[in-house]
Amino acid sequence: MIHFSRAAVLCVAILAATPTFARDCGPDALGVSRTIAIGPKGAALGLQSYPRTLDLADREVVLTFDDGPAAPTARVLDALAKECARATFFIIGRNAEETPALVKRAAAEGHTIGNHSYSHPAMTLRLLEDNDAKADIEKGIKAVERAIGDKTAPFFRFPGFADTPALVSYLEGKGYTIFGSDLWASDWSPMSPKGELDLVMSRLEKAGKGIVLFHDSKAQTAQMLPDFLRALKARGYRLVHIAPGEGETPIVEAGPGWSSTTEPIIAKTLAGKSKLPRGADPGAEGHRHPAGDD
Ligand SMILES: [Zn+2]
Repeated sequence: MIHFSRAAVLCVAILAATPTFARDCGPDALGVSRTIAIGPKGAALGLQSYPRTLDLADREVVLTFDDGPAAPTARVLDALAKECARATFFIIGRNAEETPALVKRAAAEGHTIGNHSYSHPAMTLRLLEDNDAKADIEKGIKAVERAIGDKTAPFFRFPGFADTPALVSYLEGKGYTIFGSDLWASDWSPMSPKGELDLVMSRLEKAGKGIVLFHDSKAQTAQMLPDFLRALKARGYRLVHIAPGEGETPIVEAGPGWSSTTEPIIAKTLAGKSKLPRGADPGAEGHRHPAGDD
């Protein structure tokens, strides 16, 4: 029988409780420049889908990842940890059931855990009956909360951005903030990590700031992430973390002439498709992203 001294047990307990993100990454790391508290009053943000977004200063960037946890997620978490960077993960419920340890790790390393439906319906939530869509959303939230053993952030991103006014009201009524994106890496399209890096940096240089969408389910994204974080640092971008909090979410309205980037893509993807019958299995057709093959 092995006996541990009380001090040794305490020491092990402290080590186990010390989050890995607490380590000092040094002055060269990207780090987090500030955290924005997202208030409990629901909102729908992200200029690609909505005429308003988070009020960020020039060269401020919010990192978001969809569709995990998946095989490349560990590599994404490694890259973020190395730079003491924080991101928000919009988790698919059934993936959380399959790989709970990775979601738990993301939460333990200080990332914000948001929701992205249970089954990432191939037909999108827009093509489900309202009650079926709500059931899928709620099932997803429960699955992710089981995986992390805690509440998720009241943050939601619609699969393929395919919302409906009724579902937006439903989530806002629950105090959820709906996140679209301000720019994306198009990482649902196969490309080299270097190609993806060049594309997302050129889009970021053009936008100057914003909520950026990646997929931690994509190996090319996991591969380019260390270089992307280095490029942010080198070009003077600052990382902003988002987390649930009190008060008003800082929001800025889009200027005149705003139009949705996502709607034409969704319309094209859903053309000719009709709503699934009530009670249909939303995941039966597998994963597909209206804004690309995801
Ligand atoms: Zn997705």
